Amino acid sequence: VERSGVTRLDDLPIRDDLRGRSPYGAPQIDVPVLLNTNENPYPPSPGLVADLAEAVRRDASELNRYPDREVLALRADLAAYLGHGLAADRVWAANGSNEVLQQILQAFGGPGRSALGFEPSYSMHPIITTGTATRWISGAREDDFGIDPGKAIAAIEEHRPDIVFLTSPNNPTGTALPLGVIERVAEAAPGMVVVDEAYFEFARTGTPSALTLLAGNPRLIVTRTMSKAFAMAGTRLGYLAADPAVIEALLLVRLPYHLSTLTQAAARVAVAHRGELLGTVDRLRAERDACVGWLRERGLSVADSDANFVLFGRFPDRHAVWEALVERGVLIREVGPPEWLRVSIGTAEEMAAFRGAMSEALAVCE
Ligand code: PMP
Repeated sequence: VERSGVTRLDDLPIRDDLRGRSPYGAPQIDVPVLLNTNENPYPPSPGLVADLAEAVRRDASELNRYPDREVLALRADLAAYLGHGLAADRVWAANGSNEVLQQILQAFGGPGRSALGFEPSYSMHPIITTGTATRWISGAREDDFGIDPGKAIAAIEEHRPDIVFLTSPNNPTGTALPLGVIERVAEAAPGMVVVDEAYFEFARTGTPSALTLLAGNPRLIVTRTMSKAFAMAGTRLGYLAADPAVIEALLLVRLPYHLSTLTQAAARVAVAHRGELLGTVDRLRAERDACVGWLRERGLSVADSDANFVLFGRFPDRHAVWEALVERGVLIREVGPPEWLRVSIGTAEEMAAFRGAMSEALAVCE
């Protein structure tokens, strides 16, 4: 079709493997109750905003200079937050954990290499994998969305992936992996193992972090983010913990000065205010557990969740349920296996709105 003067994507000499793809993204619809991207519903307190404004004011007078290229002060703060005897040389930070993951793929993946993940899981893992010309291998999860270690090891032995992704708690299912599964996968994997712990702080108490496995395992990487429990999604700050040699590898692919002075300043203020920010986690866990109970009382299937969202179903026409909720001012996410929907946990008021809209949606979608 001739469209004079308008260039279409396909007219460009874009990489063949990107042709026909759609960009990642949840619909951004303007409704009152946003429960679709696993954000923390609690905005920063006036005290935090004041400290952040002060930090930005202080650093603004030096914005003619590039930022600290090695991000040392923030990495030290994050190491102190993580504990486990970590120091700045074992922690790395970038613009969201998505950028951290992309740097890992750039350093350890690439043409001729492969990465294995167990699906359903976070859809950016395959997108970042293929975006770096790495081959994606889709492994399977069990009916309860856990990972069977025997099958995982068989998949690793069959494919010999350069990178294995383990997401715990998993998005979109909420499933946390027992440490034993991570240990066995890490023993079997011939390359790097990335444990994506974006939602770790929401896990039920007693759930151990893969950070406990880092000592003596230079091929293990644990990624975290400030977008979820830390309630700082707008700051774009993700980080990882790994052997110092892994960070040396990432320095080879990171763009110089990738983390702006203002991002570093904001993230440092957030770490300093971690008591307040993480103080919302208990409330969100309680709302999550109540949400799981409420949905189960309605006879729905609900995945056990260690995250700030709940996967539930099963709906022969999930889109109809999703739409009925949007019509009632509640936006959730059509993601995961067909017939399932995911709701992020909001404030008590937002969850009440969700329950009200859901009761009506269940009646009309009967
Ligand atoms: N990992 C998982 C499992 C996620 O769900 C997300 C966000 N949806 C991310 C990583 C990336 O988050 P960010 O880039 O905001 O750190």
